[in-house]
Amino acid sequence: MMRQRSQIGFCLWCRTDAVLVTFIGPVESAGSSAPVLACELCLQFIRSYVREYVTQWDRRSTA
Ligand SMILES: [Zn+2]
Repeated sequence: MMRQRSQIGFCLWCRTDAVLVTFIGPVESAGSSAPVLACELCLQFIRSYVREYVTQWDRRSTA
């Protein structure tokens, strides 16, 4: 598995500062965008969310 770049920063998901965070993608609001960083605990939830989303999407596309 490829190692993602991590840094100490602010987790937007649980709003905790000064934790090890990983860039998970940009967020857009009113025509502007900002990077979203998430801590390891939130990343576990995000990974399971993505897995579930892709599984459901695969089911839809073959139906
Ligand atoms: Zn977090």
